[in-house]
Amino acid sequence: MHAARQREYLAALGIELWQPRVAGGATAPAPAAPAQPDPSGGEWETLRREVRECRRCALHTTRTNGVFGVGPLRTDWLVIGEAPGAEEDRRGEPFVGAAGQLLDAMLRAIGLDRGSNVYIANVLKSRPPHNRDPKPEEVSACLPFLVRQIALLQPKIMLAVGRIAAQNLLATDAPLARLRGRVHRFGDTPLVVTYHPAYLLRTPGDKRKAWEDLKFARNVYQQLLQGVPADGHRA
Ligand code: SF4
Repeated sequence: MHAARQREYLAALGIELWQPRVAGGATAPAPAAPAQPDPSGGEWETLRREVRECRRCALHTTRTNGVFGVGPLRTDWLVIGEAPGAEEDRRGEPFVGAAGQLLDAMLRAIGLDRGSNVYIANVLKSRPPHNRDPKPEEVSACLPFLVRQIALLQPKIMLAVGRIAAQNLLATDAPLARLRGRVHRFGDTPLVVTYHPAYLLRTPGDKRKAWEDLKFARNVYQQLLQGVPADGHRA
């Protein structure tokens, strides 16, 4: 196994901090989204502009940037979080800062990178003030954007990170513990649930459970590639 990959796997198991590293031990910055051709004939740009100009809910009055999403415009993997935080609002990109670095490390441990093979977005495109939970009317207003992103991306599998994202995508109030470890569906797309990286920063003892979720999601994806129906629970 490549030494850098092995370090990430060990980090993912909680043997050391989940920190992406580059030569010399520096922490890698979040990779910038590469310029890429639009495979949809302009629909991506239309959607991006609609989010930029959106006033469907009151959050447009307090946001700095609408945070659209990042990653390749056609991909098998889609990761969905809750809503932008302060740093995301400032930079206009989802999952940046410490939680974003942890998410990137988690994803790299299963071979995923926002620069090449995973798209990352949120349920809400605008930051709720003081990072409060999204209101139902805000989710209702914003979810159609995500649905259109999914239609353009055509992912094979979705990973919901955190309770808020999972509950809103699955229209349930079940606790995260009951949602982990099984395959759900969002429309026709299989969906697996795990912890939010911000929670894992506060509760590092649960990183091992997050690693189990990621391995489960990777196994589900590999089964999908082999034509095995993506249903069931973790063994
Ligand atoms: S959260 Fe969504 S619906 Fe509300 S203003 Fe932002 S983009 Fe529009």
